[in-house]
Amino acid sequence: MAESRPRKRAVYVRTPMAEQDASVRITNFDEVALGFSPEEAIQEAERCRSCRRPRCIGGCPVGVDIPAFIASIADGDFAAAYAKIAETNVLPAICGRVCPQETQCEVLCTLARRGDSVSIGRLERFAADWFLANGDKPESAPAASLASSAGAAVAVVGSGPASLTCAGDLARLGYRVTVFEAFHAAGGVLIYGIPEFRLPKAIVKREIDNLLNLGVELKTNTVVGRTVTVDELLDGDYQAVFVGTGAGLPSFMGVPGENLLGVYSANEYLTRINLMKAYLDEYDTPVTKAGKVAVVGGGNVAMDAARSARRLGADVTVVYRRGRDELPARLEEVHHAMEEGIEFCFLANPVAVLGDENKRVTGLQCIKMELGKEDASGRPSPQALPGSEFEIAAEAVVVAIGTSPNPLIASSTDGLATAAHGGLITDRFTATSKPGVFAGGDIVTGSATVILAMGAGKAAAAAIDSYIRGEVDPWK
Ligand code: FAD
Ligand code: SF4
Repeated sequence: MAESRPRKRAVYVRTPMAEQDASVRITNFDEVALGFSPEEAIQEAERCRSCRRPRCIGGCPVGVDIPAFIASIADGDFAAAYAKIAETNVLPAICGRVCPQETQCEVLCTLARRGDSVSIGRLERFAADWFLANGDKPESAPAASLASSAGAAVAVVGSGPASLTCAGDLARLGYRVTVFEAFHAAGGVLIYGIPEFRLPKAIVKREIDNLLNLGVELKTNTVVGRTVTVDELLDGDYQAVFVGTGAGLPSFMGVPGENLLGVYSANEYLTRINLMKAYLDEYDTPVTKAGKVAVVGGGNVAMDAARSARRLGADVTVVYRRGRDELPARLEEVHHAMEEGIEFCFLANPVAVLGDENKRVTGLQCIKMELGKEDASGRPSPQALPGSEFEIAAEAVVVAIGTSPNPLIASSTDGLATAAHGGLITDRFTATSKPGVFAGGDIVTGSATVILAMGAGKAAAAAIDSYIRGEVDPWK
């Protein structure tokens, strides 16, 4: 907990952070938010009241000691700030950029009652970036195993934030860890979903390199369930398997015309652009470079797809069936999207994708909606207004209305129980129904957040350690 600091008058306005101007950034894929300078970080950190009973910590899914790290920044001791964060968060440069802080830690900040909360996420990013630029060399493999079952091997399936966290914690405990990833590169959604202008891939790579330095082995281009099965991993070298395969199965609208040329799932569209670098001339990945693009949905994925399309030169319309207040995307992303000239068509739902004689997309037919009573999600349910159909012109349509857990592991492994949404069922310690198999992240919860996936990976590493050491067997 932070030392009590001399109290200054409360400042209710945030220190602004520099960002690329909207007119410039729509011409490139470079990061939009440029981060605090040391002076700005100290100024912002000094706003923290070092509350005696800080509520912000309770809003952080991995329990970062927020007042303590902010106090170190205010003192100009950036290394100490990083060390404090790193005690509980293994991917701070990533979380500082993409966590929905406004609904987690920042919403609970004392200052938020009367003005702007402390910019906790931006300060976390500052400390992590400072460490990446100036800190010590990355950790190396532990010299001696800390675990009594030295040398036991664990297989980790997938390489998103859940798996990276689980693998890192197990490697630090002295386990031999192998990560199996279906794609040719590690990182999960961090690498193929969230665009470069929000999360530079060099930062994700650095975090992954840290893991490799810990001795974690990475096997890419390996689809578990096809190349090798979970049962084969358990019958072979591995005492336990962690499944962190995410929720990459896209949902579609189920309307006529959805199979026309130029209709993409957001996953495919973003993977082509981010992982396959379709935005760089020197790469051959095809992606429709349309003059007009319609993106269906209102979450972070929709904002990423819309802003990527804008950077490829398109006029973009986001079609969302509820209103602006109901948009589930992070506030900052919506704000940036609007600044970048993206149009929003609220209270509208597609009823058909329109095409020409060559089966190419020409637009969307939509119907107007109004908001009714709250539905199961706690949000007002949208109802169609009969006879209110209208058209939006588009040469490409990107569908970003949600994803489900990837089904391959469940269908290729005996004895893995699944829930109605297709995710793996686990107990609260991340154990699945199959002995030796643990799971966490989006494959269990359905599409959620980076920090929740990391929290699950951390819990799984602790549970796997107890299991291998014979302390707790969840299946007895
Ligand atoms: P994933 O990150 O999905 O990783 C799963 C990995 O498993 C992938 O690499 C996949 O290739 C691999 N895999 C799948 N099947 C197999 C198999 N059979 N064998 C081997 N490997 C396999 N969250 C936020 O907190 N903030 C944001 O701003 C945000 N923006 C987002 C933007 C987009 C475009 C998307 C798609 C998601 C966003 N999210 C955001 C959600 C967040 O990224 C996810 O909740 C998080 O990545 C889930 O982590 P995970 O480790 O469970 O799975
Ligand atoms: Fe600082 Fe806000 Fe946390 Fe209080 S609630 S310790 S002011 S960040």
